Amino acid sequence: MSASASRATTTSAGSSTAAADERRPGRLSVRGLRKTYALGAVAVEALKGIDLEVSGGQFVVVLGPSGSGKTTLLNIVGGIDTVTSGTVAVDGENISGYDARALTEYRRRTVGFVFQFFNLIPSLTALENVALIARLTGGPERRAAAAVDEARNALNAVGLEKRLDHFPAALSGGEQQRVAVARALAKHPRLLLCDEPTGALDLGTGRDVLSLLRQVNREQSLTTILVTHNSAIATMADRVLRVRDGRIDDDQTVASPREAAEVTW
Ligand code: ADP
Ligand code: MG
Repeated sequence: MSASASRATTTSAGSSTAAADERRPGRLSVRGLRKTYALGAVAVEALKGIDLEVSGGQFVVVLGPSGSGKTTLLNIVGGIDTVTSGTVAVDGENISGYDARALTEYRRRTVGFVFQFFNLIPSLTALENVALIARLTGGPERRAAAAVDEARNALNAVGLEKRLDHFPAALSGGEQQRVAVARALAKHPRLLLCDEPTGALDLGTGRDVLSLLRQVNREQSLTTILVTHNSAIATMADRVLRVRDGRIDDDQTVASPREAAEVTW
């Protein structure tokens, strides 16, 4: 497999753009990452040594069966979980060395999350769900009105300008996931992390969400890492990492990714 193989793939790929990528924000560097969970008396090794370099603006799909460690990897990169050993650096900053307070700041300002089940607050409208995050991200100095403007812009960008005052229950699954994407974008993240974002959607709606993620990735050069067990989604990626049993066992750069609208399963 492995670490050396994966490094070889990344360095050989797209050498003409390498210099630009090195300056672009949203670079990720993972070295020797291990994660062990203590489950009572049993130790579960979820990640067994991950080495990974992602350049700024890349759209990476992490593909693997259930239980292979995808969510664990994404959560550690996103500062939701912590390493057992190894390092995770974003734009040269070693986040695996952060204390709880620094990690909270990192989650708030640097990372946008999109989850399988949307995770919107049911008692807040679409606009309020997004504005809440925009407000948090802006810190105490950000006025509520500015956060609402930011939220409105983000919801316009995902095509939901006519749904601002709807509660989640009055939105379709696809629309709820668009709100979740807007919520992630409202903080202007450097990394967009998506965990099975189409897992609760039908094919057509899932495809629309994938198209949206790809469009955002291209327009904003936003580094996007999408984890899934659905191999069809891998065809639209710039790069596909196959994870098995806590390790990356294949790392492929895709020469001409398929348009998200053509993905089918
Ligand atoms: P995937 O997202 O690929 O389905 P996960 O990263 O969720 O895989 O899980 C990888 C392994 O780690 C599984 O064996 C899972 O049961 C275990 N695991 C994940 N989170 C925890 C946890 N908080 N405590 C104990 N074991 C966990
Ligand atoms: Mg998972």
